[in-house]
Amino acid sequence: MSYSRRLIFYTSFLFLLNIGGCQNTTKTGGETESIIEISPEDLKVGEESIVRVTITSPKGGIVVGGGFRFPFYMKPWNGLIKGVTEDKESNSLVAISRSDGGKAEAVNVLTNPQWDILSDLKVLITETPLPEGETLTIQYGTDDQKVVVGRKQMSLFLEVELDENGDGEYKKLAPPLLPIAESEPTKLYLVAPSHVLMGVDFDVVAYGEDKHSNVCEEYVGRLDISPLDDSGGGDHMSYQMVPWDQNVDLDRNSFSYSFDQKGIYYIKAVDHEFGISDVSNPIIVSDSKPDKNLVWGEIHVHSQLSDGRGELQDVYRDGYARGLDFIAITDHGFGRSDRGSLEERINEICREADRFNRPGEFVAVPAGETHYLPVMHMNMYFDEANPEKMLSLANSIDKITKDLRKNWKEMTQDQLAEEVVTYWDVFKNEIYKDHTLVFPHHTMWLGIKPFLDTERTRVIEVYSVHGTSEIRNQKNTPKALQMKPGRMKGDQDQKISVRELLNEGMKLGFVGGSDNHEGQAGYNAITGVYSRGLNRTSIIRGIYDQECYATSSNRTLIEVEPDGENYRCLVAGDGELDKIEIIHNGEPVYEPENISGRICMFNWTPEPQEGYFYVKVLLSEGTEAAWSSPIWLE
Ligand SMILES: [Zn+2]
Ligand SMILES: [Zn+2]
Repeated sequence: MSYSRRLIFYTSFLFLLNIGGCQNTTKTGGETESIIEISPEDLKVGEESIVRVTITSPKGGIVVGGGFRFPFYMKPWNGLIKGVTEDKESNSLVAISRSDGGKAEAVNVLTNPQWDILSDLKVLITETPLPEGETLTIQYGTDDQKVVVGRKQMSLFLEVELDENGDGEYKKLAPPLLPIAESEPTKLYLVAPSHVLMGVDFDVVAYGEDKHSNVCEEYVGRLDISPLDDSGGGDHMSYQMVPWDQNVDLDRNSFSYSFDQKGIYYIKAVDHEFGISDVSNPIIVSDSKPDKNLVWGEIHVHSQLSDGRGELQDVYRDGYARGLDFIAITDHGFGRSDRGSLEERINEICREADRFNRPGEFVAVPAGETHYLPVMHMNMYFDEANPEKMLSLANSIDKITKDLRKNWKEMTQDQLAEEVVTYWDVFKNEIYKDHTLVFPHHTMWLGIKPFLDTERTRVIEVYSVHGTSEIRNQKNTPKALQMKPGRMKGDQDQKISVRELLNEGMKLGFVGGSDNHEGQAGYNAITGVYSRGLNRTSIIRGIYDQECYATSSNRTLIEVEPDGENYRCLVAGDGELDKIEIIHNGEPVYEPENISGRICMFNWTPEPQEGYFYVKVLLSEGTEAAWSSPIWLE
C-alpha cells in the first residue's frame, strides 16, 4: 500500500478590515499554497514509531500569534497514544520545531481524562514570524518513548487548521493521509444465526481481529470447522478465509453449515497456523420456522461525521464484517456543523443508509443523536431514509431546546418537569408512532427523570462502552460492566438508574448499544430483536414492541415462556455461564444453582405475581452480560 505523501492544499481566506469604526468583511484575492508531509509513509498497528507532521508555511508566511490547530473532534492522538503513556498530564510526547530555527509552542494540549486521549493540540508561532516556504514540524513520540498506533486507518488520520494572520480564525486544510495497516489476527470470531431450520444450510460469518481489535481484512487463515459436540450432526470441514474484495461496498467471510437434529448447538473453528480459535454463539435448530427471528445489531455508534473515527461507509463495512444484521449510526446532532448544513448532513446520512441497506441480509437504519440538553442524551431512529421527516424533527428539537440549553442549570426539577411536556410535544407531532424511535442512554452518567416520557419512551439503553446504567449502587456488578468511574462524578441525584425507572412503573424494554467512537460497530454492546423480517420496518417495530434485549456484545439466548403462574427459562450463553439472576421488582430474588457450561434451563414462579421481572446473565468470567427485557406481571 502506498499513497502520495505530498498533499497540496489551498485555502482562500478572509481579512477583517476595520474602517472608520465600521467592520467590513472583504475577501482578498489569491490562494495560499501549502504542503503537509507526514512520515513514516505508512504504519502497522502495534508498531512503535515516531510520527512527524511537517507543514510548509504558505505564501505570506505565518505571523507571530498565528499557527495551527488539531481540533478535538478529530482526536489527533487517538490510536497513537494508546498503550504508550500512563502519564496523561505529560506533553513530552509532542515536540515542535521550525526549519528557520524560530520558536513555536504547543498550547492547549488538553488531556481529556474521560476519553483517555490528548486532544485539541494548538501550535502557536512565537517571537518571529514563520516565513513563506519554511516548515514547522510536529513530532509525536520520542526515541525513548515511541508512539503506538492502535486503530487501523479508515478515511482520515488527522485534521489540520491554519490561522496565518493570528486573528483566531482557523481555516481547515486538506488533511494528511497516513495509511495504517492492521496487524495479524490474535482473535477469531464465529457468528451464526440464533435460529435455524433443521437440515437447512445457513451462513456463518468468520473474522479475525488483531490485538487492537481491528477486523483483519487481509487475514487468509485456514479454519478447521466442527460442531462443539457431535449430537446435532454438524459437519467436520475446513474453510479458507479470503481477503476483502476492495471493489465492493460490503464484504465478509462466511461459510455454509447445517445441523440435522433439533436442539441447541455451537460450532467451533480453529486456525492452527495463527493459533486462534472460537466457539460460535448458540444456535437453536428447530423443525419449523418461527414467525419472528432473533436478529442482532448495533443501535449506537459514531462516525467522523460527528466525533467518531471512520466515515459512515467505514462503520457500515466494519459492522457487516463483524456479522451484524443491522446498524444504526447515531452521529451527534446528525453530524458536525463543519460537515455541511443540517440538511446536507441528513441527506448524507440517508444516502449512505440507502446505499448500504440490503433488506434480508443487512439493514442500515437512519439515525442520529440529540444531546441539546446536557442533562440527557437521546437517540432517534427512523424506519425510512426520509430527509424531510428527519430534518423536521431535528429543527423542532433545536427550536424547543434553545432556551432550555441556556437555562436548565438554574431550573428546579419541577420546572424541568414542566418544560419536558413542551419538549415531548415536539416528539408527539414529529414521531410517527412505531415508525420513529426516541430513547435515552447512559442515564447513570447523564440522566434526568423529567425528560423521560412514560408514553413514548419504549426502551432504554442499559449497557454501552461507558458501563451499565442498570443500577445505582454498582458494588456487586463485575468491574468490567460497571459505569466507568469518571462517568459517576457530579450530582448523583441528577442521574437515574434503569431499575429505579422500572420500580416507578415505567414499562421499558432493554437495548444495548456500544456508543463506540472508534468506528467499531457492535464492539461494546448489541441488541437482539425478535423481528418478522430483516428490514427497517420490522426492526423498528420489534424494538417499539419491546421484543428485544441487551447484551455486552454477545449473542446469549434468553427465552422466557409463561406456563400458568410458572415461567420456563432457557439461557444458552455465548460463552461459559457464571451466574444467572432473576431480578423481581428491583431485587435479585432467584439464582439457579450449580450452573456450569453454556446452557441452563430452569423454572421460576414469581411471588407475588405482580410488578416485573427480568433475567440477568453473567458469563465469560464476569466480562460479559446479557439482560432480558422486563416481563410485566398482571
Ligand atoms: Zn450520548
Ligand atoms: Zn453516543
